[in-house]
Amino acid sequence: MPKNDDMLQLSPESIVLLGAKGEVLAWNAASERLYGWSSDDVVGSNMRDRLRCTIEGIPADSPPPLFDPFRGVFRRFARDGSMRRVDVFRMPYGVTGETPSGIVEFGRDITQNIQPSRVLEKVSHRYENLFNAMPASFWHLELLGATAIVSQWREEGIVDLHGYLAGNPAAVRTLIGQMKILSFNERTVELFGEGRRDALFEDLNQVWPDESLHVFASSVLAALNRHETYSAECTFLTLSGARFDALFTASMPWPEVQRGQVLVGVVDISETRRARKEAEASEQRYLELFNSSPAANVEIDCSQLDNVLARLRLSGVDDLGAYMDAHPDFVEEALDSCTVVAVNASFVHLMRVATREYAFISLRRYWARALPAYRQFLLARFSGLTTYESQVLMTRPGGTTFNCLVSSVYQPMTSRPGVMIASLADVSEMSRARQVLARTRSDLAHAGRVAVLGELAASIVHEVSQPLTAIMLDSQTVLRTLNHPAPDHAELRELASRSSAQAIRATEILARIHSMAKRAEPIYQPLGINRTVLDAVAVVRDECRRMGTEIETVLAEGLPLVIGDDVQLQQVVINLSLNAAQAMKHTPERLRNIRITTLEREGGVCVVVDDMGAGVTARQAKRLFDSFFTTKEGGLGIGLPICRSLIEAHGGTIALELAPAAWSTRFAVTLPPLAAGNGWPVTRPAPQ
Ligand code: ADP
Repeated sequence: MPKNDDMLQLSPESIVLLGAKGEVLAWNAASERLYGWSSDDVVGSNMRDRLRCTIEGIPADSPPPLFDPFRGVFRRFARDGSMRRVDVFRMPYGVTGETPSGIVEFGRDITQNIQPSRVLEKVSHRYENLFNAMPASFWHLELLGATAIVSQWREEGIVDLHGYLAGNPAAVRTLIGQMKILSFNERTVELFGEGRRDALFEDLNQVWPDESLHVFASSVLAALNRHETYSAECTFLTLSGARFDALFTASMPWPEVQRGQVLVGVVDISETRRARKEAEASEQRYLELFNSSPAANVEIDCSQLDNVLARLRLSGVDDLGAYMDAHPDFVEEALDSCTVVAVNASFVHLMRVATREYAFISLRRYWARALPAYRQFLLARFSGLTTYESQVLMTRPGGTTFNCLVSSVYQPMTSRPGVMIASLADVSEMSRARQVLARTRSDLAHAGRVAVLGELAASIVHEVSQPLTAIMLDSQTVLRTLNHPAPDHAELRELASRSSAQAIRATEILARIHSMAKRAEPIYQPLGINRTVLDAVAVVRDECRRMGTEIETVLAEGLPLVIGDDVQLQQVVINLSLNAAQAMKHTPERLRNIRITTLEREGGVCVVVDDMGAGVTARQAKRLFDSFFTTKEGGLGIGLPICRSLIEAHGGTIALELAPAAWSTRFAVTLPPLAAGNGWPVTRPAPQ
């Protein structure tokens, strides 16, 4: 028993001495203040009964033995009936032999702390909610078993724990088996238990596959080395044995580790990893394509250029063309802001440089001779186009130049923003090939024309002989008139001018035949299609009449001009007209009719030739444009293929179409109009 009664009285904490049966022996002033009872009131009475005590967390019917040291929170009622929460520490005193003579109790009033504890409760409630609601699986682990084993190993002389665990998977399994799961959240049930809670974590080993043992070992070592957190990617198993990729994290503040607890989080990253793998694979595929492609590929970092363009746009520039006109140096500066970041072997070969490194120069060097083309590219980029194609005169680092087709793609398969990929092809060869093709086509067209002239021979003779006969007759009349003593001058003038007109007509016919017969390079120029149609009809009309057919023309007004070679387009109309006339061989004469219509269709100019002939069967329709396909005796089967070749060289199309009612066959030729944007010769190289 404390000797100094004053000390007892002075203590700010309640101190009560209890006898062996729980009766109050002494009661200090602080106790009087706390419970409202004076020392006289309580000494001798049973404290438990007097203060109606209960202990928080301990059932009333199983109080702790009185003589055991004890710490806990008591709820007691003061004299005025108010409840007090008292943090009590009890220990026996005066132990002589087996039994102590009494108990000393220190009591601290924590009634006022109830508020903070509520806050704490709230916080812990929130934490619980969070713990459960998090999309990650969380487990509270108790480490004591595992740390005991580690201590034991140490005692056995295992110093290099790292090496020991690395070479001893069974030891890691033992550690894992010692982990006790204190609690886990709902996501854990979903992820590991696939919805089953019962068998979850009887032994942590069941979710820990062999290939992830090193992660567990590392996390234990990290905890022992007082690392506060540890994380690694690894695989886990669900209860049914399915593997999944996860990010494993352990939160291990040292005080918690000392208390034997850690919080572990597991995030399922199978999807992320799959996406990442796919991205890596596609990047790999891209790299392979990029590197092994026979086309010369180059990656250009345009991020600086993009910044410059973005700044311009921000500062209110929306017409880059006008801006570049006002700032002539801009194009070159922009070129300098783009750098080559990767090239493939074909590029090195095309640019005739010794090694890739020599290819990494400013774009300005490559495009030195093609600034206008680069200007076009900037406009395209500014307008947001993601692909662009142009033909430029490319300059090699060594200074030589070549004709190059550049196809570029923005925001491509690579994940790097601002990187553009361009594929380059040397088209000098192609240009040469195109020239040869054009020459062949021109030869073919010539052959076709000569063939047509053969078909027209009879009517040509007729057409030319007609004016010649007229001239002859008129000349004879002139001679006769001149022999007259008083020649009629007016009549002479009339005859002379008629002869002259007929001579002009004959000359014209011959010129036309000549132009068709001579082997000339095509001349592309703006044309009104109606004029061309009328000229062609003039050539073919007589031949058609000879076959008992009239040609009717229905020409639309105000049609856009087209770009084309007059002779070639006439040849097409003549061909179609002759075919039409020939197809009506068996049509009753009064029904033989050809109608040529011009019209505007979808912005283009269309020439339609209808006839009332035998028509085309579905089988024939498939082969009409094949070379040497003919159903005519003595036919060559080159008329329609030549027509198609000529029309396609004009950027147009020719096709058999459904004939309108009362007509049997319709061929339609469509030509693009001469217009800004798709006009000549910006988008279409001239057939040579
Ligand atoms: P060819 O006139 O020498 O036969 P083309 O190439 O001009 O050669 O024509 C090929 C074939 O297409 C003709 O033999 C004919 O069968 C068919 N064809 C062409 N135009 C017509 C038409 N207007 N009506 C019916 N068949 C036609």
